[in-house]
Amino acid sequence: MGDSIKVLTGGINKTFNNREPWQIMVITATTVLSTVWLWNLINQDESIYSRGKKHFFRLVKKIPMVKARIEKEIGSTRDEFRNDMLKRCDGLLYSYKLPEKGLSKEDIFKLVDQHIEKGNYGWQHGRVSGTVYGYDPDVVDLITTVYGKASYTNPLHLDIFPGICKMEAEVVKMISTLFNGGENTSGTMTTGGTESILLACKAYRDYAREIKGITKPNMVVPRSAHAAFDKAGQYLGIHVRSIKLDPKTTEVDLAAFKKAINSNTIMLVGSAPNFPYGTMDDIEEIGKLGFQHNIPVHVDACLGSFIIGFMKRAGYFVRPFDFSVRGVTSLSVDTHKYGFAPKGSSVIIYSDEKFRDHQFTVTTDWPGGVYGSPTVNGSRAGGIIAACWATMMLYGEEGYLEATKRIVDTSRFIEDGLRKIKGIHVIGKPATTVIAIGSEVFEIFRLSDALSKMGWSLNTLQFPSGIHICVTDMHTKEGVAAKFLADTAAKVEEMLKDPSRPVEGKLAVYGVAQTISDRSLVGEITRKFLSAPYYIPKN
Ligand SMILES: *Cc1c(COP(=O)(O)O)cnc(C)c1O
Repeated sequence: MGDSIKVLTGGINKTFNNREPWQIMVITATTVLSTVWLWNLINQDESIYSRGKKHFFRLVKKIPMVKARIEKEIGSTRDEFRNDMLKRCDGLLYSYKLPEKGLSKEDIFKLVDQHIEKGNYGWQHGRVSGTVYGYDPDVVDLITTVYGKASYTNPLHLDIFPGICKMEAEVVKMISTLFNGGENTSGTMTTGGTESILLACKAYRDYAREIKGITKPNMVVPRSAHAAFDKAGQYLGIHVRSIKLDPKTTEVDLAAFKKAINSNTIMLVGSAPNFPYGTMDDIEEIGKLGFQHNIPVHVDACLGSFIIGFMKRAGYFVRPFDFSVRGVTSLSVDTHKYGFAPKGSSVIIYSDEKFRDHQFTVTTDWPGGVYGSPTVNGSRAGGIIAACWATMMLYGEEGYLEATKRIVDTSRFIEDGLRKIKGIHVIGKPATTVIAIGSEVFEIFRLSDALSKMGWSLNTLQFPSGIHICVTDMHTKEGVAAKFLADTAAKVEEMLKDPSRPVEGKLAVYGVAQTISDRSLVGEITRKFLSAPYYIPKN
């Protein structure tokens, strides 16, 4: 330390030797400016290395030859995505403008059926990971009727549809009770888990700005947390400090987590459980950190949903994760996952109204009137609120408890079975219903590819490569889990005969995507992927 100061002052003295006073002034001014510049550079949230890398790739891509080559590759990838999409919708006619005369109901029903029946995977027969969490014609019937009755309602107009507002408040309250909320616990319904998370981030950002004057907010988030946090960071200008995991348990590394907290941290995050591995962070420890530093803690129970809410009562072990944990200030819970409510419903709840109130947006000077809205949307679908409320009333505690037993038993059966298959390993300890596997012997994407050809649709994971199955009520049907294990065992045995073979086909792209150092390129390709379903072939 002493030595480096000596070197520094020595350097400065040498710099100022034999200079005119005006020169010294200019040098001082530029030094101050460049120090400020350097200070900003160092204190940006993104590392210098990461920004340097991005800059490097930006420059490289300006080289004409490189640029042409990249454009050609991206173009052909885009065409491939489009063709895949067209193939999926094969046989359907495209509409390019409104039908001149409205169609008959019969024709519309026929067309709707044709559209809905598309798709290569038998989700009805439990062949798909997650996606459809339960399907019971009786429930669908109820949802349809209730949605129909309330399809024109809109809680934005609380004087016109107060009953819908009461239903929303009750959905929030019932979930708050389930998750050990107190008297002050409050929240709103949203259109999905992503909106619930986005709103929690918005509430904490504005709360921190008002109470602590934080203007350069960051949130400390496990690497395994849902991409919705990154999305919220992009929308709301909050830097996401993504924290590494313990490679064995895949829970967030608590030492690194703690180290990432600073005076600009507006919230801490834990998942119960996370999407990739289905494992759960140590919520008690994260709660403790939040409490010590006076920083709100959000627990993402979007996926855990009613399953994790009922597990303890159903007789399974589950670590504390909800409002019973000191420090936890909010929970996101997806009713449209294991609540079996129609898609487009989720709940965000806070331990205290002071957080929730910062979620609200108010515009006071609009010519249309003083405009306040609790969530992202202005007008909201009262029909979805009513249908969600009705689903919860239909299931009741007993219904959800039984569903939890069915689904968790099936998950454990699958987990035990997978652990017995040589050549693959279960990643971490699945907390609820997601079981992730990897292999040290062969390329794991070969397995998902082979299973896909047999009709199984699983989720693929990166960094490190893995695949997972999210067990739903669809997998609890007779024989489905046993068939999955048998098919997996058979395919793994096949892989082991030729363990060093590389991945081929589409999934190879996924493997390659992990090794592309220029992430902006992966981003560009992803945008092409996203645009493919909006593609309509020329008339
Ligand atoms: C599904 C999910 C979410 C939110 O997703 P939506 O698709 O927006 O409902 C958030 N977190 C986890 C862990 C999830 O699995």
